[in-house]
Amino acid sequence: MNTPRIDRLDFLDAASHFSEEDRAIQDSVARWVDARVLPVIRGCFEQHRFPRELVGEIASLGLLGASLEGYGCAGLGPVASGLLCQELERGDSALRSFVSVQGSLCMYPIHTYGSEEQKQRWLPAMARGETIGCFGLTEPHGGSDPANLHTTARRDGGDWLVSGSKMWITNGSIADIAVVWAQTDEGIRGFVLERGMAGFDATEIDNKFSLRASNTGALFFDNVRVPQANVLPGALGLKAPLSCLTQARYGICWGVIGAAQACLAELIDYTATRELFGRPLAQNQAIQLRLAEASRRITAAQLMALQLARLKEAGRMTPAQVSMVKWNNCRAALDVARDCRDMLGGAGISAEYAPIRHMLNLESVITYEGTETIHQLAVGRELTGLAAF
Ligand SMILES: Cc1cc2nc3c(=O)[nH]c(=O)nc-3n(C[C@H](O)[C@H](O)[C@H](O)COP(=O)(O)OP(=O)(O)OC[C@H]3O[C@@H](n4cnc5c(N)ncnc54)[C@H](O)[C@@H]3O)c2cc1C
Repeated sequence: MNTPRIDRLDFLDAASHFSEEDRAIQDSVARWVDARVLPVIRGCFEQHRFPRELVGEIASLGLLGASLEGYGCAGLGPVASGLLCQELERGDSALRSFVSVQGSLCMYPIHTYGSEEQKQRWLPAMARGETIGCFGLTEPHGGSDPANLHTTARRDGGDWLVSGSKMWITNGSIADIAVVWAQTDEGIRGFVLERGMAGFDATEIDNKFSLRASNTGALFFDNVRVPQANVLPGALGLKAPLSCLTQARYGICWGVIGAAQACLAELIDYTATRELFGRPLAQNQAIQLRLAEASRRITAAQLMALQLARLKEAGRMTPAQVSMVKWNNCRAALDVARDCRDMLGGAGISAEYAPIRHMLNLESVITYEGTETIHQLAVGRELTGLAAF
């Protein structure tokens, strides 16, 4: 067999565009995932358990709020922050989800829309992993239409009273603080609710068949009294939560590449060693076509993520561009994972191999932070100037 002259997981050498610092960060996260995540993640998935014991190590690696400046955050550029998502998700989408929610959906709004006092109060502790956050936008009646929030906040003296509920909230039942988006007389505003506030309850959603190593919760607010000091002063209107989602979706665009790479890597090894009809499975045209197809999808996803990073670096990245890449890359990763699962035959339904775990996880990833359809419609709106949703 010829020795491959190229990196089988980076066919067009996207890595040639990474800086030394980007590669160093990628390598350190990759080594940590190999040593600390891969040995335990299958068990976590089977036990429906978030590996909370890894949070301190994730924080020590500088991965929480990694793209933010100051307050104990690493201040990484777009490529490095994308690559850390990719390596985490090579381990499991649950870990990338945890980091995305903590950094992009909870620390980012405090960093962007919070007062100096709020930043000092929460961000350093969140960067150290001592305070865990969640982001409450989606409600039980429908997440695709976030303008129609039923959760309300009304002024009561110097405080606010928050009532309503949130559904499908990552980190929901383990979070110390929740950035909750509610309808007010002034428009949508962001509130930082703290665990233990009277009337604030959170329960875990169990029986999930996807992201089983992630904590997902439902939040309930029964006239929760929230002091003015916990209102994000700079956030007014739906634009504020949507701006957080743009950041988190950017991480997804890179993250899912890691899940797809994990599947392809496993299948390249598996098809080389499994013998059927007197030859390695990999020596069948139909199998090579499918491996080549997976490689093509991964390569296209890498180049789209890289171009998005360039746009982000230049301050020109738009939400519609993120929609296109989130749609493309999630679809690519899910298709790769499904096909890899199939090429494993019966073994493909066993947790012994990674593709079915990634495949099931990616069903969530293609759904959350805007479903595939909603992102297609966002691109359609950009092309036509007409909103069809
Ligand atoms: C594991 C997991 C973790 C999550 N974490 C969070 C979190 O941390 N914070 C948070 O706020 N939310 C979170 N979500 C919620 C997620 O963002 C929503 O599930 C998603 O936005 C879809 O909303 P929905 O589930 O209410 O589906 P719906 O909005 O009810 O959509 C149902 C279906 O209708 C389609 N649809 C909707 N509108 C249209 C239209 N106009 N035209 C055509 N089709 C349409 C959708 O594409 C979808 O297929 C999470 C979800 C999951 C599964």
